[in-house]
Parts: sequence; structure tokens; C-alpha cells
Amino acid sequence: MGQADLVILHDGLAAQALDILSKPAISYPFAVPAAADELVKDLKGHPHAYVIACMMDRQVNAEKAWGIPFELQRQERLGSFEFSFLLQQSEERLEYAMLHPRPLHRFNALMATSMYAAIHRINDEYDGNARAIWAGRPSSRVLVHRFLEFRGMGPKIANMAVNILYRDLRVELADCSSIDISADVQVTRVYARMGFVPQDASIEDVIYHAREMYPEYPGIYGLILWDLGRTKCRPQNPACTSCEWAAHCAYAKGDHTSLA
Ligand code: SF4
Repeated sequence: MGQADLVILHDGLAAQALDILSKPAISYPFAVPAAADELVKDLKGHPHAYVIACMMDRQVNAEKAWGIPFELQRQERLGSFEFSFLLQQSEERLEYAMLHPRPLHRFNALMATSMYAAIHRINDEYDGNARAIWAGRPSSRVLVHRFLEFRGMGPKIANMAVNILYRDLRVELADCSSIDISADVQVTRVYARMGFVPQDASIEDVIYHAREMYPEYPGIYGLILWDLGRTKCRPQNPACTSCEWAAHCAYAKGDHTSLA
């Protein structure tokens, strides 16, 4: 795998990401049905729904995770997702709603604990309005740290939360230099197959490599890689013949040591 291929891949991925950013906010669905999508994107009316949806996005299908606030709002669960209502619910009540009539997540008790803590953190630290977390054009470093302060939010989710706010929901930030790539299993596999890192690269390898590649915004093309990983660049039999990156991708060019 030549350095020239990597430069072409990087430049192409960055150009595509910048092109997306130059256009009006994209409207791809975070959740289904449409009402569930609207709820988690309603940063004015239900900003806490965004925070809680990010929190749920662990070890379950992303669309399922992002649909959880809407599922909880259903009459047979909580019946409301207004912040003042959530603030009155006990942790046990939240866990029961996560579990009945059917479990919403793999880790319902853990999610209920994190959600309860988040609701009270938003109330105590942000005067009950989660919009205050990202208001005032904060630096990416400050905003990632604010998400990390929520119980259950690790670096991957905190970076994803800030990246989506900036990239997809067009929340203004002072800079993007602390938005790391969210190196999940999809991103890591595609990044390694392309040849940027070895097949046995750790999450840290991917994160630090992406910082080197684009220090101004290390997470700039994370969504493109993630989407490739879910569609064409599957764990088995990647669809290289229909992939626009194949001409410069190490795996497609026959370097199968890049198989992650
Ligand atoms: S060319 Fe093949 S291996 Fe490379 S990114 Fe595309 S699908 Fe994945």
C-alpha cells in the first residue's frame, strides 16, 4: 500500500466530508418512525432527548438506541418525555419503563441509572435545560468534556455526541480540533482495510492516526467510514466492486493483511 494511495483516500474522504458540511443540514434519520427522529433532533423543545439518545447508543443497533426516547414517551411506558415530568421519576420507575412491556436495550438497569443521573445533572448543572450544554459557541474541548461528565458517557459517545451536534445539527462551535473520530467496530474495520492503520490496530491507534491526518477536525470523516462499514464494507465479503474508494483501498488492491 503506497503512501500516495493513502493521501488520495484521505483527501477524497475529507473533500466529501467538507462538501457535506458546506450544504444545508442533512436530514438523514437518526431514528424511526419520523416522530422518534423529530424528538431527538428537537434541540429547542427537548434537548435532553438528544443527550439521553446519545447515552443509549451503546452496544445496540444505533437506530434502536436513538428511538428509545420516543419509545419511553409512549403511554404504556412513561407517557411523557417532558423534562419536568422526567425529573419526577424515580430510577426504579425509569428502569421499569425500559423493561416493560418489552426490554428496550441490552442493559436496561444500567441505562436507567445513567438516564436518571443525566436528568438530575441537567437539572443541577444546566438549570433544567440541556441546550445550555452546547450554548454560546463553546470550544470542542470544553463540549466533549461536558459530555464526558455525564455518567456512562465514554470518549467514543462523547465525541460522537459533539460531532453530530456540529456536523448534522449545525450547532456552532469555536473549533473542531478536539472532536475525535468515534472509532467503533465499523470505523476501525474500514480504516484498517483502507490501509491507514494495521489490521490489529487498537481504538487508540485509529484515534491518534486520525488526529495526525486532520488535526483541525480529527473526526471529520467518521460518518463516511461508519456508513461504509454498515453498507459496503461489511465484515464478510465487502462489496469492493461497487465501492468508490476501491482504486486506492489496500484491501481492494489485494493487500488482505489490511482485513480487520
Ligand atoms: S474498497 Fe472494499 S475493502 Fe475498501 S473500503 Fe470499499 S468495500 Fe471496504
